[in-house]
Amino acid sequence: MSYFINVVLPVPLEKLFTYRVSKSEAAFLRPGMRVGVPFGKSKIYTALVHEVHSRPPEVYEAKEIHRILDEHPIVNDVQLRHWQWIADYYMCSLGEVFRAAVPGAFLLESETLILRNQQMTVDETDLEDDEFLVYEALQHQSTLKVHEVSSIVDRKNILPVLNRLLEKNVILLKEEMYEQYRPKLVRYVKLGAEYLSEERLEILLENLSRAPKQSQVVLSLFQLQAVNKKPIKISELVETSGGSKAVIKALVDKEILEEYFIRTDRVNYEGEEENYALKALNAYQEEALADITKGFGDNKTVLLHGVTSSGKTEVYVKLIEDCIRSGKQALYLLPEIALTTQLIARLQDYFGEKVSIYHSKYNIQERVEVWNNVLAKKPKAQIVIGARSALFLPYSELGLIVVDEEHEGSFKQFDPAPRYHARDAAIVLANLHSSNILLGSATPSIESYHNARTGKYAYAEIRRRFGNVLMPEIELVDLKEHARKKRMKGHFSERLLEEIKESLEGGEQIILFQNRRGYAPIVECTTCGHSPQCPNCDVSLTFHKYKKQLRCHYCGYHMALQESCQACGSPTLDTKGFGTEQVEKELETLLPEAKTWRMDLDTTRGKHGYEKIITAFEQQEMDILVGTQMLTKGLDFRNVGLVGIMNADSLLNFPDYRAHERCFQLLTQVAGRAGRTQKRGKVIIQSYNPYHRILTQVSNNDYEGMFKEQLYEREQFKYPPEIRIVRITFKHKEYNRLNEAAEWFAKALRGALGSNVLGPEYPPVARIRNQYLKNVMVKIPQNASLTKTKEITRRIEKSFNAISQYRSVRVIYNVDHI
Ligand code: ADP
Ligand code: ZN
Ligand code: ZN
Repeated sequence: MSYFINVVLPVPLEKLFTYRVSKSEAAFLRPGMRVGVPFGKSKIYTALVHEVHSRPPEVYEAKEIHRILDEHPIVNDVQLRHWQWIADYYMCSLGEVFRAAVPGAFLLESETLILRNQQMTVDETDLEDDEFLVYEALQHQSTLKVHEVSSIVDRKNILPVLNRLLEKNVILLKEEMYEQYRPKLVRYVKLGAEYLSEERLEILLENLSRAPKQSQVVLSLFQLQAVNKKPIKISELVETSGGSKAVIKALVDKEILEEYFIRTDRVNYEGEEENYALKALNAYQEEALADITKGFGDNKTVLLHGVTSSGKTEVYVKLIEDCIRSGKQALYLLPEIALTTQLIARLQDYFGEKVSIYHSKYNIQERVEVWNNVLAKKPKAQIVIGARSALFLPYSELGLIVVDEEHEGSFKQFDPAPRYHARDAAIVLANLHSSNILLGSATPSIESYHNARTGKYAYAEIRRRFGNVLMPEIELVDLKEHARKKRMKGHFSERLLEEIKESLEGGEQIILFQNRRGYAPIVECTTCGHSPQCPNCDVSLTFHKYKKQLRCHYCGYHMALQESCQACGSPTLDTKGFGTEQVEKELETLLPEAKTWRMDLDTTRGKHGYEKIITAFEQQEMDILVGTQMLTKGLDFRNVGLVGIMNADSLLNFPDYRAHERCFQLLTQVAGRAGRTQKRGKVIIQSYNPYHRILTQVSNNDYEGMFKEQLYEREQFKYPPEIRIVRITFKHKEYNRLNEAAEWFAKALRGALGSNVLGPEYPPVARIRNQYLKNVMVKIPQNASLTKTKEITRRIEKSFNAISQYRSVRVIYNVDHI
């Protein structure tokens, strides 16, 4: 009998692939283990075993696997089922989910190694200069990697050199796989075994009498070993003995000391032990908790709607505690930018080292460790707090998932596939584990609130801020009128300035919100109207004053700011609109004595950039923080008396059915940063449309009103939750081909689905990185089957790909596009 395995490859191909294994390999292998397999011309990929069986593939001869990479499965059965759901629902391949789900270090790929051909005697005069360099290097090193060759010949494209050397039989190529994960080892020392008795030690010390430093080290080590019975780090020994590393090395060389290594985790919690004293919940929190528990009892997803600063986090903490006490794992999901030191510190205070953190700023090594800790059900990973990718960890006994800030659009992955919504995928995961799931927000998404209203979700709410702190007082300022009466200083109304000054005098801090980074979005010539465009994308470049640069926020292209207009030559360039940088600059002149800082993507690069600013603000090292929406997420500052929104209009005027919902959420969240302690906070919203309904709803804290109105509009104009949307994007570098292809696809869809197919249309930015884009929207009414629609679409895609001139057009599906 022959044995085979079906594997998932981390590639965007639909099918699983079959490989041949031996009988003993078949007995050893289980689903969820990794194997190295040859794929394509000569590469070796990491694949995941999906099934072990004995059915030979029908259409091809199965290749043999390269080797087995795991002793135990690293992925469990629930995960495989969850991934399959994601692949089916979001219209991508299981391989793409696999690639996104596991830490990069698990996906070893082969690397090409260059070796000298030992069989061949080389006549060096036959070699050209660059060939000789490579040949010479191989005299000293047995193998070279591609990038090493590249630096030897000092050139990127080294394929020609390698090809010539291959033709001349000077070199050979070999594929090898590399582990990217290296356990972290800490170096320890101990006294050689033979010196452990006191007599032996005495003799040793005598022998060392002419090396006082060495004998001091030996003596210190002996004492340390006797006292604490723990492994002794080299650094520790250096400190207590006063000897240098060189002295220690000399002793190791003489074999008087012995060096050894112990494996350790990179991610360790170094605070105090957990102190577990949970806060007693107040009556409102208790009531919400009771409703949540009841919802869980009915096996329902629960939505917790609690105003900002109502103490939702404390409710989560209570639920997490219950969960881990029953021996199960808990997952706390947050949008990436809400994963702040503040919140993590709060959870670690309660749960100590039971908390593991998992998000994109963690490097490959740290991710592997968290993965392995969850897999091994280590107590230190019983609670995982993370961004959307934390959904993919190998939980075996999940008891609770909390999705905090559930309304956040960034839970939806945009690019690349899988384009999944972490909240929705979390609900499915909870079902697979029969675990509880709670969605929380001060401003729930229309979808979730709708689900709560229709009884699909259970519902709990907290309407009051904790400690009877009042909701902030919100004042709308009419920019048009201020401008007419000449009561504007730059982008600040006199009203806002007054309030800022008052807060400063009262020793309070201030947050100013402007939803754009950079100095001014665009530069425009006042003579001819030209504004510099990105050469790769259809957008105007953004002006960054600090670097005197024009930058593209889509592709990163940048150029120095020109002195005069490139189109007409006049020196009449002017800036239009404004961003965070300009707000900061204006403050420097308006309020020179205030300490101002800015928080946006440009100032928070680097692993701790964001945290540093938050900590500094928390410790009141600055008075005013100017920032983008990064400021809105779950931050709890004690001393902020005033929040100013520089310009609400940019939020209202988005060409998107969600614009109003988002605007309400964003403004309510920013406003929520004000006055979180006893004194009532103040919020000033500047706008050219202060009578806009959404702004009135924000200032009256009227979520209900906003919801009703938005739901009505969505029903009228057929948007979610009334219907579902699958957006299909076509992408190609040739404008005409893209148009034709998109037109063809849309027509075929319309033939099958009728008027529910809209487009093709250009998105607002119709070219990015030199690729043209066009969208088709498929609206799926409640009574139609999503599965059927997807099947039809897939079938059309097959015919589409059979047309040779369309094959190179990329087709991208985005299910539940938001
Ligand atoms: P939310 O998550 O709803 O914005 P938080 O959980 O951050 O609110 O709570 C707001 C503030 O109130 C925090 O500083 C928190 O420590 C405090 N707080 C909330 N609940 C309690 C409680 N039961 N006892 C003491 N302090 C609480
Ligand atoms: Zn001009
Ligand atoms: Zn660009």
